[in-house]
Amino acid sequence: MSVTAMDIYRLLPKTNCAKCGEASCMAFATKLSEKETDLELCTELAANEMQALENLLAPAVREVIIGKGDKAIAIGGDEVLYRYELTYYNPTALVIDVNDEMEAAEFEERVKTIENTEFERTGELLTLDAIALRNKSGDADKFAAAASKLKESKYPLVLCSLDPLAMKKALEVVGDENPLIYGVTENNFEDMADLAVEYQCPVTLFVPGDLEKMKELSHALRAKGLKDIVLDPGTFVGDAIGDTLDNFVMIKRLAIEERDEDFRFPILGIPALLRLNNDEDEVTKSIKEATIAATLLNKYADILILNGTEIWEIIPVLTLRQSLYTDPRKPQAVDAGLYEFGELDENSPVLLTTNFALTYYTVEGDLKSGKASTYLLVLDTVGRAVDVSLAGGQLNGKAVADLIKETGIEDKVKTRKMIIPGLAAPVSGEIEDDSGWEVVVGPRDSSAVPDYLTKEL
Ligand code: SF4
Repeated sequence: MSVTAMDIYRLLPKTNCAKCGEASCMAFATKLSEKETDLELCTELAANEMQALENLLAPAVREVIIGKGDKAIAIGGDEVLYRYELTYYNPTALVIDVNDEMEAAEFEERVKTIENTEFERTGELLTLDAIALRNKSGDADKFAAAASKLKESKYPLVLCSLDPLAMKKALEVVGDENPLIYGVTENNFEDMADLAVEYQCPVTLFVPGDLEKMKELSHALRAKGLKDIVLDPGTFVGDAIGDTLDNFVMIKRLAIEERDEDFRFPILGIPALLRLNNDEDEVTKSIKEATIAATLLNKYADILILNGTEIWEIIPVLTLRQSLYTDPRKPQAVDAGLYEFGELDENSPVLLTTNFALTYYTVEGDLKSGKASTYLLVLDTVGRAVDVSLAGGQLNGKAVADLIKETGIEDKVKTRKMIIPGLAAPVSGEIEDDSGWEVVVGPRDSSAVPDYLTKEL
């Protein structure tokens, strides 16, 4: 269960001194419960009270930082099993692998591809997060040499080798960059764990398909003073994907519901494993890899290592991640008002839509790609789509009439004609009555708007 504002309030001084910048202790508690302020801002806490609050506020899943400075990413930090109970924090990190057997040009090209992969959706630039270097050669010097080439990369690193000697050599080169060490196993436990302690880097514990053993080794890592641990219970693909999911779900439940200290860490999955010993064609492999990534994103991977770099494989994963990690408590909305597209004059058409972010950016994309010149009135519907705001009453004649006045559109155009979305047809008469504008019902789908404007106007 997530910590409530009342749980926090009980441990605050309750003097309402306002030194934290909030009007009262309750207001401060509410912001803390939403992760919108810092506990340190309350200057009135004794050391033991501060400690009690820190314990209370520690997320069920530890937040682990990979990388340093501008490159750093955070994974984990979650409080709830289900997004609607609060929200998910720290989007699942998407990592693409390179290996130390690649020729220099191929290596460079692949790193460039990873760094340049980006996709804009609903006003947000979606990118990858880190690079995983695999010690495919089995050679410690080659691994270290490849690691040194990644030192200047804009992304943090995951160093993948089960050989402590190779890991040591790579850490001598990039250990000060706080890479994620992958990883500790039952077989290399002492040597690899000691490296994590020596370099103070986060470390992955890889124990395939055996949660009891994972608990034992996690406990042993913690006993060595390691706090930044990532758990990999194995990514079994094909018919065994169910076992993978069972283990991921079990770990997250143990962390969040049982607060089992040995499992309160982020989970790592490797959809890239699907490509090993797989004779299927590249397209099939890419589709299956993206499918496994999406499956593990849903339940409950905090970091995923992928191999495919095709943009059509990456986009669905980025999009799903963005959808899962939006805050369900906040409407996804853009600012209401008047937006302008193309070359405009006093005879330009006027369109209407709502301020639901997905609706707005879809319309914006369609108008831009169709090279349409038009004014676009965006109505504040509290982030609801056209059909939903119609049902909820936010899209109504008076609201549109008010929007016309507030935006001053009547000073910009001579026309008093507005094109509304096809789905808004039921309120066309109401808008006409309240605004005095002529209302034309346009296409239901905004992709048809540029053609519609050309043909109809
Ligand atoms: S500084 Fe502390 S005691 Fe003062 S109002 Fe804020 S939370 Fe309460």
